[in-house]
Amino acid sequence: MAKTDRIEIKCPQCGHNEFEHPENLQENDFVKCDNCHFEIMLTDLKEVGFEQAKDVAIPEMKAEAEKLVKNLFKGFK
Ligand SMILES: [Zn+2]
Repeated sequence: MAKTDRIEIKCPQCGHNEFEHPENLQENDFVKCDNCHFEIMLTDLKEVGFEQAKDVAIPEMKAEAEKLVKNLFKGFK
């Protein structure tokens, strides 16, 4: 088992982001959380990571959009 070099996906169980995985990791291989030993298939973990990325990206986009709108109104003063 190799250890990941800190990936941007968090363990759905404990929020840890280091996973053990076999060499030559394939989509249908299981990775294991280094902290709570929760096992998840790589494809499912990627799915989780995508959901997590969405949760992070959306508030950021909203903040950016709000800034943009504020600047727009400043111009009309
Ligand atoms: Zn975990």
